[in-house]
Amino acid sequence: MNQSIGAPDGTEVLTGVTVRALRGVRLIGGTLADIGIADGHVVDGVPDTAGVDLDATGWRVLPAACEPHAHLDKALTAARMDPGTGNDLMSAITSWREIVTAVDAADIAARALMAVRRYTARGITTIRTHVDIPQTGDPMRGIDALVALRERLRGRVTLQVCVLAGSDVPDAQIAEAIRRGADVIGGCPHLAPDPHHEVTRALDAAQRHGLPVDLHADEQTDVTLADDALDLTDLAEQVLRRRLPQRITASHCVRLGALPPERLDPVLALVARAGIGIVTLPITNLYLQGRDTTHLVPRGLAAVRRILDAGIPLAAGADNLRDPFNPAGRADPFETTSLLMTAGHLRGEEALAAITTGARTVLGLPAAGTDVGDVADLMLVPDGDLGDVLAGAEDARIVLTGGRVVADTRVRRTLDIPERQV
Ligand SMILES: [Zn+2]
Repeated sequence: MNQSIGAPDGTEVLTGVTVRALRGVRLIGGTLADIGIADGHVVDGVPDTAGVDLDATGWRVLPAACEPHAHLDKALTAARMDPGTGNDLMSAITSWREIVTAVDAADIAARALMAVRRYTARGITTIRTHVDIPQTGDPMRGIDALVALRERLRGRVTLQVCVLAGSDVPDAQIAEAIRRGADVIGGCPHLAPDPHHEVTRALDAAQRHGLPVDLHADEQTDVTLADDALDLTDLAEQVLRRRLPQRITASHCVRLGALPPERLDPVLALVARAGIGIVTLPITNLYLQGRDTTHLVPRGLAAVRRILDAGIPLAAGADNLRDPFNPAGRADPFETTSLLMTAGHLRGEEALAAITTGARTVLGLPAAGTDVGDVADLMLVPDGDLGDVLAGAEDARIVLTGGRVVADTRVRRTLDIPERQV
């Protein structure tokens, strides 16, 4: 069946449609192409399968985005915060611990679904969510809610559930979370009284269960710590010593951005050798960090330029979404690209890679995109200046998971302002 995709301000609704060809679509590099899709992947030529031939004139195709680090159990709770609480990392933790006492599994499931709908509408088809094991009430309520949501959304959104084990979480509860379906082992060594113990027990659990690891690491801007006491240094040394085959990720790594090059470069060389991927989370760390500084406030960002130069896989996301850790945010990967360019000083194409190809590498996913064999998780954006898209200035987008349209956003705007100069 042939069908026109319609314009970015059109009234077409394509959600649920299975696409077997995108015709006349603009590639990232600027050329026009026809893209065939079969069995969820890009194929050579247009396949002889069921599905719609979509005339995609007027649109550009990008790989769909990933959110490599979310907290869906906490999402959309900003309105429940006590307005009297502070707004640095420790205050946010205190605030969340107060909120979570009144949170049950149904509450988590409802907010997580609402958040996933926002992410998907904005072009994200894969989300890794860290999930708390609360020490008040049922500790497994977040894990159970998110594992159930992962199964419900399978085929439309890929959810990875990472058990976020704080130092107060007993080993038996980590094992139980894995038994109930967690995909990844996480933790917070930088918040623990003994960070080395936390890194060690996460890697021990990973070895025991054969799962990947994603640790919150070095989420501070002070540099008084010796370099061999960085979470990341300990993690890299242990990964090399243990020769772990599974994928290891360090999230945040804010402290790297505060180290001078002569201290930073040996750490990055070690991380590169260990094959660890880094997730940077601009919006939340710009919000949380530097609150104790009166002027020339430090940017709460990993050293993204030098991380790329060191050949380390880099993913970028938003972390929290409208909760005590980040009351702002719009679940938009182009909010992240915009911040990577302005606060992280990356070039546009590097910022785009960090939310797409780089993020998939860090998450251990096969490539998505327009090359033959790629997963057909794609995002269509208006075929204008790609810089407008990366700046977050375009809202219209159509999102495909494995060739199936999962979100279709058109924007109708009328202005009482002339469109052109006379
Ligand atoms: Zn986090």
